[in-house]
Amino acid sequence: LVSRENHPERSTVRVGGVPIGPGTVTLIAGPCAVETPEQTLQAAEMAKAAGATLLRGGAYKPRTSPYAFQGLGEAGLRILADVREETGLPVVTEVVDAHDVELVASYADMLQVGTRNAQNFALLQAVGASGRPVMLKRGMNATIEEWLMAAEYIAQRGNLDVVLCERGIRTFETATRNTLDVSAVPVAQRLSHLPVIVDPSHSGGRRDLVLPLTRAAVAVGADGVIIDVHPHPEQALCDGPQALVDGDLAELADVMRRFPALL
Ligand code: PEP
Repeated sequence: LVSRENHPERSTVRVGGVPIGPGTVTLIAGPCAVETPEQTLQAAEMAKAAGATLLRGGAYKPRTSPYAFQGLGEAGLRILADVREETGLPVVTEVVDAHDVELVASYADMLQVGTRNAQNFALLQAVGASGRPVMLKRGMNATIEEWLMAAEYIAQRGNLDVVLCERGIRTFETATRNTLDVSAVPVAQRLSHLPVIVDPSHSGGRRDLVLPLTRAAVAVGADGVIIDVHPHPEQALCDGPQALVDGDLAELADVMRRFPALL
């Protein structure tokens, strides 16, 4: 269902009217985690100032440590819905449990499946039946074939509104949090008709790498990027070191403005 063999034209997925697909480079930005209404609104305004047309923000955080901030849950979803009202930006947010899909779908415009759940087949089937577009992160240990088969689980439930997201894979390298596999973008686009975007924030895990990796993503033909921004990253409850700050926004906006014309 997701293969290009029977569907040679590349697809565009619409999220609250915003297209992700060939011919555009969609900027999705916002806080890694929803912490407070003020922080989320400020981050959304930063995202919008940089040219974002979709807001990201996690209310359910799949953390490596069970002692780390796990997200605000439904209270976070309510904050996201309020900020959507205020800014007009449709909301992309992660769901980590099949039992929460209906609840998260009642607030969100797009459901995100994270790298740690990329082969949680019950969750994939549940988001496939949710009636919402889905962003499927690549499992950090998944081959491209495994990633596409995960997308197939979603599509099998009647949902072809799936966007693939390359977010870096596990390698021997320790200088970066993950290794951004730029070649995965054109490879996945050749094998599948689904749009492919890149997460330069979770790939490198470092603020200083986000803009260079964004340029790389756009240059290699990604259909969009998803980027963490935070008004006060030093106080962030999740992934502060990779969040862009106010001073980075002009350059991000410039990358987004200039690169599509070069493709
Ligand atoms: C995220 O985007 O908030 C996230 C946790 O990403 P990943 O699943 O790629 O680690």
